[in-house]
Amino acid sequence: MSPPPPFRVVVAGRPNVGKSALFNRLLGRRRSLVHNLPGVTRDVLEADAVLPDERTFRLVDTGGYDPDGREKLPAAIREKAVAAIRGADLVLLVVDAAAGVLPSDRAAARLIRESGRPCVVIANKIDRREGRDAETEAFELGFPDVYGTSAEHAIGVDDVQAEIARRMTEAAHGTADLPSEAEANREIAIAVVGRPNVGKSSLVNALIGAERAIVSDVPGTTRDSVDVALERDGRRFRLVDTAGIRRRGRTQKGPEVLSVVQARKRIEECDVALLVVDASEGPTGQDAAIAAAVAEAGKGLLLLANKWDLAGRREVGTAEDFRTALASQIPFARHAPVLLISAKTGRGVSRVLASAAGIAENRRRRISTGELNRILGRALRDKPPRTASGRPLKVFYVAQTGIAPPTFSIVAGRAERLHFSEERRIENLLRESADFSGSPIRIRVRARSRNEPAAAVRPRPSRRPRRSG
Ligand code: GDP
Repeated sequence: MSPPPPFRVVVAGRPNVGKSALFNRLLGRRRSLVHNLPGVTRDVLEADAVLPDERTFRLVDTGGYDPDGREKLPAAIREKAVAAIRGADLVLLVVDAAAGVLPSDRAAARLIRESGRPCVVIANKIDRREGRDAETEAFELGFPDVYGTSAEHAIGVDDVQAEIARRMTEAAHGTADLPSEAEANREIAIAVVGRPNVGKSSLVNALIGAERAIVSDVPGTTRDSVDVALERDGRRFRLVDTAGIRRRGRTQKGPEVLSVVQARKRIEECDVALLVVDASEGPTGQDAAIAAAVAEAGKGLLLLANKWDLAGRREVGTAEDFRTALASQIPFARHAPVLLISAKTGRGVSRVLASAAGIAENRRRRISTGELNRILGRALRDKPPRTASGRPLKVFYVAQTGIAPPTFSIVAGRAERLHFSEERRIENLLRESADFSGSPIRIRVRARSRNEPAAAVRPRPSRRPRRSG
C-alpha cells in the first residue's frame, strides 16, 4: 500500500514579507529532506517539515520571485504559485505586519479565496515597532485566523505549528477536536510529596481505595520504583513512586532534610505535585522548601491541607484564614489551589484528582501572540516595566515561547532582568487573563536584535540593507 499523500502547506504572499524566513523556521533544523524540483529551484521550493508531535507535512514555498518588490510578476512564476495554492491543503498567507495591508496582499487574499483552499493569515515582523496594530489590520483580509509572528526571531511560530497540527487532524479525521481529546487522554503523572508523617501514605491509600478507580501497578521511570496507574472519570493518572511513599511512611522518620531530597526525585517525574501539609501543625519551612523545589522544576502544584479533621478541633480558624496563612508562609505556592482534606475520614479526597487534572491542563495552556499583546501591550507601553537596576525597559512585544510550564518572552530594547515587583505585575496580568492556577509561569526578557538575518535556504540575490527597524 502506498503511503497517503503528504499534507501540503503552501507559504504564499507578496515578495519580502518573510515567506522564506517562515519557511526556514517551520523546517527548523531538519532541513535534510529538501526536494528541489528540476527547473523550478528559484520558484517553488518543497521540503518535509516535522511538527512537535512528530507528524510530517510537506512545506511548499511559492517565493523566489521579484525580490525587489515590484508589482508585476512574470506570468510563468505567478502561474506556478497559483498552481501550488490550488494544490494546497492549507495556505499560509504571509503579510508584513509592519507595513500594513497593501493592495498586493488583498490581491493574494482574493486569489486564495478563489482557489477555495483553507487559509490562515500570518502577520509577520511583529517585532518591528509599528507592527502591533497592523496585526489587527490583517483581519481585514477576511480570514478569521490571524497569527502574529516574527519569523526572524522565532516568535509565534509554535502557534502556527499548532494550527497546522489542528488542520492536519481535521483533514485526517473530519474534526479538529481530536487534539483536545488527545489532550484529555494524556496521562497525568502525580507526585505526592511532603514532610514525614503528614499523611502522604494515607492519602495514596485513600486515592487508590476510595476512588472507584481502575488501579494497576506499573514499573516506575526510575529503577526499583513502582507507580500506580489509575483511571477516573475517563482520565488517566499515574501516582509516581508509591512504594517509596508507603515504605518511608511506615519506617523512615529520618532527618527532615531527606524528605526534600526524596521529594525532588519524585517531582522530576511528575506533571503535578501534591504537597501534603499537616493542617493540625500548620506550614513549616520544610513545606516551603518543597514548594520551592516544585516551582523550580516548573511543575504544577496542589496544596493539600491534610488532617483537617484535627485542625478543625484545634481552632486554626476558618478555612479561609488557613488558606491565607498557607499562601503567606509558602510564597512559592501563591498560585496553587488549596484543598482541605482528611485522608483518614476521606473528606475532600474525591476532589483531589479532578483538581490535579485541571492544574495539568493549566500548565499546558497557551495564549496566542495576538491575544497576549492585547492583554499586555498597552499595560507595558503605558507603564514600562523597570529592570532590577531600576531603569525602565522599552517593550516591543510579548510572546509565549513554551508550555509546561507556560513561558513568556518579553522582547525589549535590551535583555536585562526585571525588577521582581515588575515580574509579579506581569505574572498577575497573565493570571488575570487566563487560568494558570496551580502552574508556575516563567517570564524571560530577550533583546530584540535588529540585524539578525533570517537564515535563507533559498538562493537569493544580495540583500539590500533594511530601511525600517
Ligand atoms: P507519611 O509519612 O506522610 O506517609 O504519613 P502517614 O500516611 O504514614 O501518616 C502519619 C500518621 O498520620 C498516621 O498515624 C496516620 O494515621 C495519620 N493521618 C494521616 N492522615 C490523617 C488525617 O487526615 N487525619 C488524622 N487525624 N490523622 C491522619
